[in-house]
Amino acid sequence: LPTSELSLIARIRSLARGRSAALRVGIGDDAAVLLLPPGSEALVTTDFSLEGTHFRREWHPPESVGHRCLARGLSDIAAMGGDPRAAFLSLALPAGVPQSWVDGFLRGLLRLASRYKVPLAGGDIAESPAGVCADIVVLGSVPSGQALLRSGARPGDVIYVTGQLGISAAVLHALLDGRKVSPKSKNAAPHFWPEPRIAVGRTLRGLATAAIDISDGLSTDLTHLCQESGVGALVREYSIPRGVSFQGSSLHYALHGGEDYELLFTAPAKARVPEKLAGVRITSIGEIIADAKRRLYLTDSHGQRKPLIAAGWQHLASK
Ligand SMILES: [Mg+2]
Repeated sequence: LPTSELSLIARIRSLARGRSAALRVGIGDDAAVLLLPPGSEALVTTDFSLEGTHFRREWHPPESVGHRCLARGLSDIAAMGGDPRAAFLSLALPAGVPQSWVDGFLRGLLRLASRYKVPLAGGDIAESPAGVCADIVVLGSVPSGQALLRSGARPGDVIYVTGQLGISAAVLHALLDGRKVSPKSKNAAPHFWPEPRIAVGRTLRGLATAAIDISDGLSTDLTHLCQESGVGALVREYSIPRGVSFQGSSLHYALHGGEDYELLFTAPAKARVPEKLAGVRITSIGEIIADAKRRLYLTDSHGQRKPLIAAGWQHLASK
């Protein structure tokens, strides 16, 4: 380890000194003690960020790796309509990782954490035999019975997405092609600095019938939602909000590219869904249909219907 485990924990503890109404006891005891609002249920999600699979140290600055690590967990809480309450980080570092890298990683993670008022409430540190491995656990809460599930979509519901899709995958493919992409470029921000849609998720309680975050790509995540709801879906190709600010973005990336961390949700056709929620554009892209085989279809601008097959997002591992 770059510094001894104890001094690294002391360092994290001093950096993570954030106040939160939910956190009664944080780093420094055997377990965190958290107080959730009365009448709420706890949400717990866990996500790996693995070097070589989710990021590369030569492409992603440590601040971006830390930001993306926490964003993955916050996005899952957003997809449930919840409020994040605390984060826990287990970090395995190979020998020889510079202290400056670890500091940058924590800086990026804690900057995002403080914006969402989520205290880093505990975790673990170990030496990794291979690359950097970060496991983030985010604890959230939601008023009892109001969590947005994947299983609530019904035939006739309209399908919506937040923001724009495909930029993160377009940036990743540019990097894989050996092109330089500056992490400071505003156009590449959805890849390096994705914004979890916490505020949008909160407004979807009582409005959406089902929701999921788009971490693996629209085709894959809509498939998950349809599987859980026991329905099919019809998506209008020309309605998909393609991210066009990054050169190389395309319909393919908007349909199949992962790590956008936008929300996909359904609502009854008669529900009033505004054009923007919490300042984020909302686009209707299709509808839920009755289909025992839970198939997905894509309709082109000529009205031609073709099957939409989930092109599973394999991150960097398959490249
Ligand atoms: Mg998710």
